[in-house]
Amino acid sequence: MTAAILDGKALSTQIRAEIALDVAKFVEETGIKPCLAAVLVGENPASQVYVRNKQRACEKAGITSQLHCPPAETTTEELLTLIDQLNRDPAVHGILVQLPLPKQIEETRVLEAVDPRKDVDAFHPENVGRIVQNRPRFLPCTPHGIQEMLQRSNVKIAGANVVVVGRSDIVGKPMAIMLMQRGIDATVTVCHSRTRDLPAVTRAADVLVVAIGRAKFLTADMVKPGAVVIDVGINRTDDGLVGDVDFEAVKEVAGHLTPVPGGVGPLTITMLLKNTLTAARLQQKN
Ligand code: NDP
Repeated sequence: MTAAILDGKALSTQIRAEIALDVAKFVEETGIKPCLAAVLVGENPASQVYVRNKQRACEKAGITSQLHCPPAETTTEELLTLIDQLNRDPAVHGILVQLPLPKQIEETRVLEAVDPRKDVDAFHPENVGRIVQNRPRFLPCTPHGIQEMLQRSNVKIAGANVVVVGRSDIVGKPMAIMLMQRGIDATVTVCHSRTRDLPAVTRAADVLVVAIGRAKFLTADMVKPGAVVIDVGINRTDDGLVGDVDFEAVKEVAGHLTPVPGGVGPLTITMLLKNTLTAARLQQKN
């Protein structure tokens, strides 16, 4: 068997075109142009690339983007002052604080300072709570992108055994919560670094989402024949960018598989655009 490749890039192009139409309609109806403010502290090269890609995607979708670049030695208080300004600015609808932040900054305080109505990454505890209660304002971008991909690729989720490997607040945990919700109806197992006999658990999965940050960690013997495998990992190695899945080997076993690059990554940015439009809509109503 050779897996069908789930092409996140092509799917993103399609969804971004839909969002651009929705943005144009919103602008026509309200005269308001959605605006995303990105905050990039310091000069982390990977973060600079991510933010640049996000800004480019905004522009293409008709969303205004602002970039705020405080220096690496910025203090928590200084960053909180900037967040407060952006919270108060009616022209800014979405605020994105690019992670990781430099060590001296108290990340939790900063993320909690973002107005929950502008929290397009859905990291604020209020938004996390709403997700848990299945009444989301925003869905976090990476899990949301994966959910869109599964739905639009007609992967059967209701009743399926889904195994999520990784339990971060950004990917694994929200992914597991979203998939177990009533209406989506997966039976979800979450694995982490302390999971006993991980291969036995992953081999039981109809759908496997791997988000651990270890190059080519998931090998073919860990996959049930025909399973859908979603590779969230982004690992910079001497061989270039690779995922958490051993792509070449797993593609001989899986039924569907996402590539890295060109899988989950583009969808993450796409969902950020979607959330920025949602934020503009919400604020326009108030
Ligand atoms: P974190 O480092 O925050 O979390 C990693 C998780 O993986 C932890 O829960 C950890 O377990 C678990 N883990 C680590 N090693 C193992 C192991 N050997 N077996 C089982 N579980 C393990 O990572 P993120 O969730 O932030 O990111 C994961 C990957 O996804 C990274 O490569 C990141 O770059 C990528 N990513 C990609 C995005 C995209 O758009 N495509 C977006 C966000 C992230 P424990 O909790 O026990 O420590």
